[in-house]
Amino acid sequence: MKRVVIIGGGISGLATAYSLREHQELGNVEEFEILLIDSNARVGGNIKTEHKDGFIVEGGPDCFISEKPWALALCRRIGLTDDLLVTNDKLRKTFVLSKGKLHVLPEGVILMVPTKMLPLAFSTLISFTGKIRMAMEYFIPKRRSTEDETLGSFVRRRLGAETLDKIAEPLVAGIHAGDPETMSVRASFPKFVEMEREHGSLIKGMIKRMAMMKGKKPAAASGAAKGVAGAKPAGKVTMFMSLKGGMTTLIDKIAEIVLSKPNTRIWCSADANSITRIDDKFRIGISDGSTIEADAVVIAAPAHAASRLTVDIDSELSEKLKTIPYVSTATISIAYKKADIAHPMNGFGFVVPRSEKRKIMASTWTSIKFSGRTPDGSVLIRCFVGGSKNMELVDLPDTEMIELVKSELADIMGITAEPELARVFRFKNAMPQYTVGHEERIAWIDERVEATPGFYLTGSAYHGIGIADSIRYGEITAKKVLHRIEG
Ligand SMILES: Cc1cc2nc3c(=O)[nH]c(=O)nc-3n(C[C@H](O)[C@H](O)[C@H](O)COP(=O)(O)OP(=O)(O)OC[C@H]3O[C@@H](n4cnc5c(N)ncnc54)[C@H](O)[C@@H]3O)c2cc1C
Repeated sequence: MKRVVIIGGGISGLATAYSLREHQELGNVEEFEILLIDSNARVGGNIKTEHKDGFIVEGGPDCFISEKPWALALCRRIGLTDDLLVTNDKLRKTFVLSKGKLHVLPEGVILMVPTKMLPLAFSTLISFTGKIRMAMEYFIPKRRSTEDETLGSFVRRRLGAETLDKIAEPLVAGIHAGDPETMSVRASFPKFVEMEREHGSLIKGMIKRMAMMKGKKPAAASGAAKGVAGAKPAGKVTMFMSLKGGMTTLIDKIAEIVLSKPNTRIWCSADANSITRIDDKFRIGISDGSTIEADAVVIAAPAHAASRLTVDIDSELSEKLKTIPYVSTATISIAYKKADIAHPMNGFGFVVPRSEKRKIMASTWTSIKFSGRTPDGSVLIRCFVGGSKNMELVDLPDTEMIELVKSELADIMGITAEPELARVFRFKNAMPQYTVGHEERIAWIDERVEATPGFYLTGSAYHGIGIADSIRYGEITAKKVLHRIEG
């Protein structure tokens, strides 16, 4: 029987394994074995949920985006429709720290593009000249060159330096933990580049897009909406979705399903340290000294791990994989008694521009964003530390990290109470950075991988950093593997 080995059991590796079995069943493909290995004691990679004293604490991702449909669709296919959790959109506001005070991000600003002029006009976040400069975007001619550029240069050119400083940079740091002066706009925000090219302006493009979306049925359109017998109603969908029991519900469910299939195993605490090629097969070395043979091997581990693993099969590919930079981050979740907090917490949280010179990058007011995250009478706040701004802070001991966050929250939100709970999670070299030239680098890597039949790379380092994109790419990878298995 043929064997597929998947190295890495984060969402990418698990989505690949699930999709392999799903397509095998649908396509009547001959039986094959799947062995998924992960160096950690548990699968899930960055996705970690902790349940403690009635709190649901997300260490890593706390949601996925529904606009990219792959995560939502997978949740529904695996029977998690009833577990889906929407955001409390009545309170969907983001604040930005500016000169030590929290200002609401004007309504209608989507990522960094203003789509409603009235809220922008009354905003206390942006100066008068900054607002005029933002609105001028409508008239600024499009760039002729098609070369990649940094996000920083793109935003300065289209919307002005103040938008970059107060909106784009902190929002992007909150999502990618990255530096707009090195990030590729084409790889990170392809839609914005497309809008400039097609409509000549982001404001025009965004308004057209919103008008189109209004006419469309919500992405929730599922079997039930289309009248498929037995399908569950689609339910409400918000831009960000989570799961009632936390994001590991997704991991646990996929693992449970794949493990229920014959010839499928998950091996944790197994660190792959080499891959060699023997004729048309692969031999994977594990750090306990054992080896596994495979007809197809998928690396679903971060690019730096893939670089170490590919030294023997393609040294140039290994060198190229090294050039995908990663940053480290930490999340600190901290809970207080609601009665101890004077701050209204009337939003989903705040982001912090680099120019404010603070130690936290962003803060999510978790118990406002989602229901059911705390026992009654408590609030849960999650702060982000590290990223390209302050990477060294990720190594602080837990007690110092918690003190740092408490002192930042005291300055910014006036919280002086002692927390009921504080949890620190570190993610070392876990966030890939799509720097200028990313697309060319990945095209080269894809070509190179194709030159080694039976060998595949998947994961958030290549074609999209979030959970939805990781699932999509895992599904694409599974199809390629099946093609190979079928000969
Ligand atoms: C703090 C934080 C918050 C985030 N928030 C969000 C969010 O809200 N929404 C969102 O969509 N995305 C978010 N992301 C991004 C999201 O986490 C990633 O898109 C996703 O988890 C990537 O999954 P992956 O499987 O590709 O990689 P990973 O999760 O990194 O999994 C890789 C796996 O490979 C294993 N591995 C590594 N080397 C080896 C080896 N040699 N042998 C065997 N196994 C190995 C690791 O143990 C790990 O389990 C966040 C990321 C971080 C760090």
